[in-house]
Amino acid sequence: MNFNRVVIKVGSALVSPDKKGCSGKYIQAIASFITKCHQKNKEVILVSSGSVSAGRHLIQHGSPIPSIPTKQAMAAVGQMKMMANWQRFFDVPCSQLLITHGDLKDRERYINIKNTLRILLANGIIPIVNENDTVATEELKVGDNDNLAALVALISEADCFLILSDIDGVYTKDPRTNDDAVMIREISEITDEIYAMAGTTNNPIATGGMKTKIQAAEKAVENGIETYILNGSNSQVFDKILAGENPGTHFLASKEVSKAKKHWLKHTLKSHGQLYLDSGAVNAVKNKGASLLPSGILSINGEFLAGESLELIDAKTKVIIAKGICQYNYQDLVKIKGQNSEKIQSILGFCPSKVIVHRDDMVVL
Ligand code: GLU
Repeated sequence: MNFNRVVIKVGSALVSPDKKGCSGKYIQAIASFITKCHQKNKEVILVSSGSVSAGRHLIQHGSPIPSIPTKQAMAAVGQMKMMANWQRFFDVPCSQLLITHGDLKDRERYINIKNTLRILLANGIIPIVNENDTVATEELKVGDNDNLAALVALISEADCFLILSDIDGVYTKDPRTNDDAVMIREISEITDEIYAMAGTTNNPIATGGMKTKIQAAEKAVENGIETYILNGSNSQVFDKILAGENPGTHFLASKEVSKAKKHWLKHTLKSHGQLYLDSGAVNAVKNKGASLLPSGILSINGEFLAGESLELIDAKTKVIIAKGICQYNYQDLVKIKGQNSEKIQSILGFCPSKVIVHRDDMVVL
């Protein structure tokens, strides 16, 4: 297994195995794996479940399946316990990102999350993501952390996605009730048959089951991210990953993606405006693989929002040289065009990004 940036999804069964507070029983081995990844210069983003389970014993509830407000209160108190539990196994700082599907759908918030993750990773900090359970209504939720983690893998442009639970991988039948169930080592195409093999969860606290894991794997592999379903309760699994082996089920990433992403940027994403660039910026974007800085922008056309797609035009020849997603809306960009990036903060009073169009969000035509 070879990767540079990995998203690791850790299920409630590992964070809160006794369904009463948090424990280090499994987390310790996962944390030590993450530390080893850091030592090999790999970047790690954690998506951790377990807030509801960790807070469950602190909130009075009658029924085995608590009401939504009761679960939200459990999440509020459990999230603190869960974060503290993670932090005690790391020397580097952990950070908390609580997000909902509503945040991922909103262009500006999407860009903010992307930028925050980029900066945390650059500073060697471990981002720990969970759904913002206490504020999210059902319509605004992703609903389960398997799918949330897949979206985090996409937003962070990870090249590997590990889904850790207490099951070894995908089996042909439910291994708890069928002795002849066989684990599938490699899945190159996610078909209806694969979904049919997925049983449902029997844990009333956890939200996902094998089905949501396969949905999450599908999202990730379509976007070129190698995905594995692994048993995080077995510490030998981590030694195997570090030795380059596959200890669970590997979903092979689609190879067509970079083409698909370029196609999406080029053809599907509607342009909301144009930026006219000086010759220095044209050269940097076209020939040096650089991001677009404010200093190279001569003029702006269009009333666009942050997160919308723009055409980058050579002001001299009027030729479109690239297309990409803009970090600023047009009102703010008018104020900072032609300026050094270092001045953005003093001009606008805030600086979410020193670049206007990040290289990762750009296609050169
Ligand atoms: N956000 C939920 C929690 O922290 C978990 C959702 C899931 O496990 O899929 O308890």
